[in-house]
Amino acid sequence: MKTIHGIPASRGIAIGPAFQFKKTELRIERHTVPYPPAENQRLEGALEQARRELALVLEKARGEVEAGTASIFEAHAMMLEDPDYLAAIQEKISHDALNAEAAAADATDMYAGMLEQMEDEYLRARAADIRDVGMRIVRTLSGQGGSPTHGLVKPSIILAEELTPSDTISLDKTLVLGFCTVGGGPTAHVAILARALGLPAVVSMGADILSIPDGCPLVVDGSEGTLLVEPDAASSSVKREQATSQAEKSIAARKQARQAAVTRDGQRIEVVANIGNVESARLALEAGAEGVGLLRTEFLYLERTRMPDEDEQYEAYRAILDVFGKLPVILRTLDIGGDKELPYLNLPKEMNPFLGLRAIRLCLARPEIFKPQLKAALRAGVDRNLKLMFPMVATLAEVRAARALLEECRLELAARGRPVEAMIEVGIMVEIPAAVIMADQLAAEVDFFSIGTNDLSQYTMAADRTSGSVSALADAFQPAVLRLVRAVVQAAHRKGKWVGMCGELAGEPLAIPLLLGLGLDELSMNPPAIPLAKQILRSLTVEEASQIAQAALEMENPDQIRDWLETNISL
Ligand code: PEP
Ligand code: MG
Repeated sequence: MKTIHGIPASRGIAIGPAFQFKKTELRIERHTVPYPPAENQRLEGALEQARRELALVLEKARGEVEAGTASIFEAHAMMLEDPDYLAAIQEKISHDALNAEAAAADATDMYAGMLEQMEDEYLRARAADIRDVGMRIVRTLSGQGGSPTHGLVKPSIILAEELTPSDTISLDKTLVLGFCTVGGGPTAHVAILARALGLPAVVSMGADILSIPDGCPLVVDGSEGTLLVEPDAASSSVKREQATSQAEKSIAARKQARQAAVTRDGQRIEVVANIGNVESARLALEAGAEGVGLLRTEFLYLERTRMPDEDEQYEAYRAILDVFGKLPVILRTLDIGGDKELPYLNLPKEMNPFLGLRAIRLCLARPEIFKPQLKAALRAGVDRNLKLMFPMVATLAEVRAARALLEECRLELAARGRPVEAMIEVGIMVEIPAAVIMADQLAAEVDFFSIGTNDLSQYTMAADRTSGSVSALADAFQPAVLRLVRAVVQAAHRKGKWVGMCGELAGEPLAIPLLLGLGLDELSMNPPAIPLAKQILRSLTVEEASQIAQAALEMENPDQIRDWLETNISL
């Protein structure tokens, strides 16, 4: 047996076989062929195989996922029949005597490039679909297996160099028991997704995990941050018992999850969920969420190969709002950039993407992306309890510009005769130190704040949240970060505005007494964390919690704070 240590990223224990998630670069061979008709026949064979594969994918998508995702594959299937596109490939084979792989790649590039130049937004968006289809044809022709999950057929623990949010989203969750990655920090988006799915995960494990063969028995403990490779019988049985006891505790907490979180002295704290799509909305409601404190809309965009248009976004938001009825849903506008890339936006590469054109900055620079989202939200909010929230705000000017665009969208919709929600509360995420410093002025411009401790920690401590090597710095238990949280709450309350928290700290059992004591009005977390968070809140009084907070904020470092909380709070 071997034990590999990493950084705990998502609680829980998973036991199962290893599966290596390997990304391979697609190599495109290029040469001339002596007899083009034979090459055209080879192309025909590959097209047939690609059609069969797509039909299977489509059948699976229709059964398992949202209509939006299935429609992407429908569009791909149609493109495999597009006579102009197929004729362009055949022509390159017949006239230039090119091999089929190079002909397909070139025709795809030409066709997609043409679409990218179109005025019409819908046609422009088809370019990414054509590129996907083109790569499928090339993969089939060259026999390169392609998909990194090729061969994942039974529930396994995924081992990967790195997993991007879109890799994680595209994994078949019924076949994933847990994740381990070579690098990464505990508040990178892949870790957040693991928590949202309730799957154990450990990050920053080092390259050793890449030499573990597929099928090797493993135990991943996401609370401890360990991976046992070929565990002996005794260790396996200890882990199995721990897993059972954790499951029993969580079943007990779930029994009362639907009841409100009221402290022993009668203060009610709103406990809401961080979600990314309609499935997580349903899970959140079952887990006891009293609404949504953070709808990460970018996850809807990451699931696709092209930009969803206003109507598609309207459908997606409305479906989520329908799950919650009259309960509040805070829709955060697009937060792309940083570790969330959208390949089809073709954004220029930046040296420091977390400090670049991310989130509200990108949206203000590209109103053609932002306005359809705002319009979809305004339409979806009719007769529902929708609130809007802008991410990564650093200045008053950004809030004003975003609000002005919102107003513009409202007027444009009204001119189109569309019903829109008249009164939507607008808030901002406080996740940049500049926003904390300016919180008094910002509070006058918005209805609420939600503190994003994941980014607030990385920007305050100047420590990349996706990097394992500085994860001790990018830690929301740093007293510097906790003091900023206190400052935000005080500034907002002085202006009569409420403050929530939707960073990962809000769902951390040890932090909950501290956050109650700091005066947070709402805590938003991944759905699996809700039952226990409510149980902890019910066990405290506000007075006890504020003493805990005062003591913690005087301490010197995160370890001291955690140790002290562990000995003084019974969870
Ligand atoms: C945060 O930064 O704390 C946050 C909730 O937003 P995200 O993790 O999506 O950047
Ligand atoms: Mg953030």
